Amino acid sequence: MGSQDQQADYQYGTEAVTGPPFGFDEQKAQEGARLLLEAVGRNPNEASVYETWNRRVPAMLETLTEGMRPEAKPAMRTFDTETSGLVVKTGIPLHSMCEHHMLPFQGVAHVAYHPGESMVGLSKIVRYVRWQARCLTTQEELTRDIAAGLDDELDAEGVLVELTATHACEAMRGVETASTTTTRESVGEVSDTDREQFRGSIRQDGAGAIGY
Ligand SMILES: [Zn+2]
Repeated sequence: MGSQDQQADYQYGTEAVTGPPFGFDEQKAQEGARLLLEAVGRNPNEASVYETWNRRVPAMLETLTEGMRPEAKPAMRTFDTETSGLVVKTGIPLHSMCEHHMLPFQGVAHVAYHPGESMVGLSKIVRYVRWQARCLTTQEELTRDIAAGLDDELDAEGVLVELTATHACEAMRGVETASTTTTRESVGEVSDTDREQFRGSIRQDGAGAIGY
């Protein structure tokens, strides 16, 4: 039946329903934010919320979805590898948004990789994680995306990623106020020794815990 087909299309998304596959549609963001204000009983023309739907929410949403737009990706200038060991960066601030509730989840990311022929500065790893996290996603998916993305960018022999985060959709509803979720992913060749060294670095920095 037609109505069922339509529902299926709507649920799974077609271009006609979801809009352009890339870029940011400011007008749709404005309309959507205005409708949400109306849905909760606010008058969108009140002075106090006029800029909310007209400017602030669209601008914020555009920034927070930069990870979906390759042109916003930070340049990953590489240099020749100087080490045969594991390169580790722990305690990278993590801010992303859950695609189920469109609310933030935040915490820390830890990254380690075995360089191939080239490396990048550690600050580039931080910027890469920040860019990759700016999208509507799940923590599990983001963990995989960071690991696979860095593996691609660095042409690394192996990459390890661990994310620990608190989800506002759980904390704000009082479901699991103090809980954090940890997800792990590895790509390429990673030995047990690498994993132990990675875990040791995370413990040593006390970076496994987050401060909220
Ligand atoms: Zn959620």
